[in-house]
Amino acid sequence: MRILVVEDEKKVAADIARALEAAGYIPEIVDDGEEAWFLGDTEDYCAVILDLGLPELDGISILKRWRSSNVATPVLILTARGSWSERVEGIDAGADDYLAKPFQIEELLARLRAVLRRTAGHASSQIQIGPVLFDPRQMRLSVDGTPLQLTPLEYRAVAFLIHHRGRVVPQHELADHVYGTNSDRETNTLEVLIGRLRRKIGVGLIETRRGFGYIICAEEDDHESGGENDSVDGGRGKTPDKTNKTNSKGRAK
Ligand code: CA
Repeated sequence: MRILVVEDEKKVAADIARALEAAGYIPEIVDDGEEAWFLGDTEDYCAVILDLGLPELDGISILKRWRSSNVATPVLILTARGSWSERVEGIDAGADDYLAKPFQIEELLARLRAVLRRTAGHASSQIQIGPVLFDPRQMRLSVDGTPLQLTPLEYRAVAFLIHHRGRVVPQHELADHVYGTNSDRETNTLEVLIGRLRRKIGVGLIETRRGFGYIICAEEDDHESGGENDSVDGGRGKTPDKTNKTNSKGRAK
């Protein structure tokens, strides 16, 4: 998932970027208000982390411009400590949440997860789709209670598709959110990645719509968030054979 980070303090920006990368996101840092406005207006981000105190064009003005041109990307604003008026102004301008500086990076990540799932219309942090459980907090995907060993790229791909479940995600869009927009990659790299992911998952989670893209279209049940216990298989009683799967939907082509 691509996250735009608008922050003019280099160290803060670098700290945020490092934490986002470690959490499986693709951060793109910009320190200039005008450029931030342009990028948010024209590029496709899953969320924006927006510092309000910026040179040239301030965060509130950027946010107002985005919202008036119907950019609905969730925005988490970073405000000065104790400035309640700034927070009120930011929320009225269309921010989805705020964090006062200085903050703990863990809280930033938790709030980011929360705005992402709220804007996707989900109440809880864990997502269950049939036998598959996705836990973004632990960056884990489990099938029937068994956690899968995913590479960072595989995790990014499945996290993006789950976040956008119910809609066909075009290949170029998924590639942008897995590899970033600056990387040069072979056109079939994503297909290879998806194939590997399907073999690991073993059940028909990711479907291909020929010529359109990929979709995860299963119904899901939201789970209570925050629990440490991940064994959520509600007695389905079936252990999938991940090594020799005959389910055609889940098989790599
Ligand atoms: Ca600043």
